[in-house]
Amino acid sequence: MIQKVSPRKIIMVISLITVLIFNTALAFIVVDNYLTHWRLIIIFSIIIFLVIYGVSSYLINKFFIDIINPIYKIIRTVKVLPLTIVDEIEDAEFSKNLEQEVQNWAKEKTKQINQLRLMEKYRKEFIGDVSHELKTPIFTIQGYISTLIEGGIDDPNINKKYLLRTEKSIDRIISIVEDLLTISKLETNELVLNKEKFDLTILINEIVEMQTDYAAKKKITLNIKLNNSFIVYADRKLIYQVILNLIINSINYGRDNGSTELSVYDMDQIVMVDISDNGIGIAKQDIPRLFERFYRVDKSRSKENGGTGLGLSICKHIVEAHQQTISVSSQEGLGSSFSITLEKA
Ligand code: ADP
Repeated sequence: MIQKVSPRKIIMVISLITVLIFNTALAFIVVDNYLTHWRLIIIFSIIIFLVIYGVSSYLINKFFIDIINPIYKIIRTVKVLPLTIVDEIEDAEFSKNLEQEVQNWAKEKTKQINQLRLMEKYRKEFIGDVSHELKTPIFTIQGYISTLIEGGIDDPNINKKYLLRTEKSIDRIISIVEDLLTISKLETNELVLNKEKFDLTILINEIVEMQTDYAAKKKITLNIKLNNSFIVYADRKLIYQVILNLIINSINYGRDNGSTELSVYDMDQIVMVDISDNGIGIAKQDIPRLFERFYRVDKSRSKENGGTGLGLSICKHIVEAHQQTISVSSQEGLGSSFSITLEKA
């Protein structure tokens, strides 16, 4: 609206109307001789037009500069509008874009407020999740310790067993806290990437070698389909953690006599690591939430294997910190396939 009827146009119309009124009044007063004084009338009309236009422009500009300019300055200080808009204000041309700019500003602010609300919701959920996760092992420890204090310590049937269970719960608390610290570092960008060139094939072989016994215990075979070396540029320690996590998941959520296939694909600028299993798979509706903190499809199986529900969330953070991607495709009952991309050196 304002764009169509700008103050400049309004002033122009007011000035013309004033000139028209002046001429009409003159015509009525002077009547017959009106047209004979046309030179004088034109000069007076121009003077009246210029005076009205000048005074109105001054007053309107003063109004905008004094009242609306501070609003723009506030908008500028919150860095929502581009600086060019402020130049327009100083040129007193701002009225053309006024409505649009303020609307954009309001839209941007609404978006920011919604984002903050969402973050607040996540924060509350996160605190709830952390408390819930820590509550179980803490209460378990409390139960065992109370029993031991109340005489169980002298009972050879339970004393060692309860102490071992207590130790297991403490280990669980430690892994939750360690994972939380990693997530916190990743989310606050405290974690500085130590990128280096390294051979991905060597790294994968190292992890697989370390996990062969665990896989055998769970009746899973780890197959590596790698013939040549793949030199990548990434933080070796963190990528080790990601691939290790994905391999451990493929074992934990695998089936008896199942297998995990590890492959690397050369894709021009990047390489893609693929970890596929023929395990329990993931239902379609769970896939979008898989990388959320504490999200677990199979809660009991996750806890049984010492899972914290934070592993995939950490993997996603690490991969994204490298400006690369992590993806999953899975079919319930058939198996899952997790892939990450890495920059080629
Ligand atoms: P957790 O510590 O529970 O393993 P993750 O964040 O690593 O946590 O994984 C989140 C959830 O995703 C797991 O609890 C499990 O339900 C599911 N999941 C992860 N990897 C697989 C897989 N290879 N096959 C089936 N389900 C998986």
